[in-house]
Amino acid sequence: MNALRHVLSELVVERVGFGIFVLDRELNVVMWNRFMQDHSGRTAEQVIGKPIFANFPELPRVWLTRKVESVFQLGSFAFSSWEQRPYLFRFDHDRPITGGVDFMQQDCTFMPLTHEREVMAVCITISDVTHASMMQRGRDEAVAKLQEYADRDGLTGIANRRYFELRLADEFSRWQRHGGELSLLLFDLDYFKRINDEFGHLVGDTVLRVMAERVSQTVREQDVFGRFGGEEFALLLPCTGFADAMLLAEKVREAICATPIDVQGARVPVTASFGAAQARRDITSSYEALINETDAALYSAKRQGRNRSVGFA
Ligand code: GH3
Ligand code: MG
Ligand code: MG
Repeated sequence: MNALRHVLSELVVERVGFGIFVLDRELNVVMWNRFMQDHSGRTAEQVIGKPIFANFPELPRVWLTRKVESVFQLGSFAFSSWEQRPYLFRFDHDRPITGGVDFMQQDCTFMPLTHEREVMAVCITISDVTHASMMQRGRDEAVAKLQEYADRDGLTGIANRRYFELRLADEFSRWQRHGGELSLLLFDLDYFKRINDEFGHLVGDTVLRVMAERVSQTVREQDVFGRFGGEEFALLLPCTGFADAMLLAEKVREAICATPIDVQGARVPVTASFGAAQARRDITSSYEALINETDAALYSAKRQGRNRSVGFA
């Protein structure tokens, strides 16, 4: 029987693929398995009978003390996942460093060892979850990237209409609640059909891309620039009144038409017409109403001869 117990202990506790160690109430080490020896470089003889912090001063002392003490007091299991605390011990991992993980990622369980209803010691297991955590991080990054692609226009890289309207709805309700100023610009490239007809659709695409870059460099960080449709774009201007919106419209208009765009040996002159409107208390009922007013102003700019900015009146 004793022999069997010895074999079982050797097999299960020593050779198992995760760390097992036991602490008494003073946090002295009572047991230390092979996994812990192999990864920490400390033998059972070196650590047993001494406080865990004597050999591992870098351990999170307050956290670990509290965790172990709670298991002594409550007599129930406790758990800590890598997502809460990436690791307890600074062990090397055997993965390539490509995942950006510095140390072995660990899940820990804290198990009360009870004798006649009294907790005698706490058994702690350490599982190497580096691989799973790297997969999870990879998945999280992929989801974040997909999310970003979903918000962007494929040709220009700026906000697409869906995302632009989400931001507009957000800013509009913030403005309704807190007041301040909010303006919207819509602009549409002039005679763009002619550019396509004369230079070809691919050149037209490049013109749209270069134009979007010029505009992005002209506006502020907090302004939202989006593609509204084919060659129609929108600028959402938080904390901006009508006069400043008109100034910005002129600045952006000039940035677009200042120099022709060089594409494949051709110099393509580009102009745009702008409409501007400011959200007004007790008048602008919804963000759609603000879009309609801005669109009316843009239509007026086209009617008046294009390459100009017109405010909603
Ligand atoms: P206006 O000054 O009145 O705006 O004249 P316009 O020619 O720009 O207006 P219209 O709406 O008649 O034509 C817009 C053109 O823009 C038609 C369409 O083929 C082109 N267009 C829309 N999206 C794209 C795109 O992604 N790439 C290219 N190359 N052309 C596009
Ligand atoms: Mg146009
Ligand atoms: Mg158009």
